Amino acid sequence: MELNLQGKVIIVTGGASGIGEAIVREAAKEGAIPVIVNRSTDRGMQLSNELKNAGHECLYVQADLSKEDQCRRVIEETIQALGKIHVLINNAGINDKISLETGNPEAFMRSLQNNLLHYFALAHYALPYLKQTKGNIINISSKTAVTGQGGSSAYIAAKGAQLSLTREWAVELLPFGIRVNAVLPAEVLTPMYQKWLEEFDDPDQKIKEITRKIPLENRMTTVEEIAYTVLFLASDRASHTTGQYLFPDGGYTHLDRAISNP
Ligand code: NAP
Repeated sequence: MELNLQGKVIIVTGGASGIGEAIVREAAKEGAIPVIVNRSTDRGMQLSNELKNAGHECLYVQADLSKEDQCRRVIEETIQALGKIHVLINNAGINDKISLETGNPEAFMRSLQNNLLHYFALAHYALPYLKQTKGNIINISSKTAVTGQGGSSAYIAAKGAQLSLTREWAVELLPFGIRVNAVLPAEVLTPMYQKWLEEFDDPDQKIKEITRKIPLENRMTTVEEIAYTVLFLASDRASHTTGQYLFPDGGYTHLDRAISNP
């Protein structure tokens, strides 16, 4: 199946690490033009140079997305350089563990600023251009939005809101033919996940405990498997799919617990 993504401008926030990086790499392989948005200049710049040296077209925009004016600048720089936006992939985020008991309202708001504000701000500023291309939006949420996690009130609030916004925007943008969908990863070994694992005394043991509970093949989902799902949704092969939540997670969120705890 041909995804027809050649020449499509795809903004990927958090595009130089983990899931975002995989989306960027796979998008480039499909002939799309990924726009890598990251806070850390080195990693984004390195990836951009690597892709350009390999003959791909791409753009790097450094931005701290917790700042609204920087979200606006991401869209402006993309339009200045490439003239169009076909897909916005809201992906940047961090599980900063603001808990109900040990966190505080100020930290909660700061976390929403870092994890949620830019999903709205980028969609808002990109909208005029998405209307021109009849483009689409994909929000990367998390299975924790529907299962909870414990100790992460602010991150989970952001992840839940991203799902609600997916449905809300899918409705609001129907008249423009703009599709909006969400992808919910569960257990994917990225730098963020690795950092979390290292909080345990025995990370190897912890990962064994986790993968034992993942029904399909008792393994983590790869970053590429998330990227394939995202790029399918981004493509016109998903032309009648909107307002949906997809869980590429080996059945972790929904299959009967009896399967993984016999
Ligand atoms: P990651 O490897 O840490 O990548 C996240 C990226 O987001 C980083 O490159 C980071 O850039 C960027 N970022 C975060 N806040 C930013 C900001 N304010 N401005 C600009 N860039 C920012 O994490 P990941 O695991 O791939 O996570 C990607 C998405 O998947 C997140 O939304 C996460 O919630 C979701 N997710 C992941 C898993 C999993 O198992 N890994 C599970 C469920 C959901 P810098 O490094 O430059 O700060």
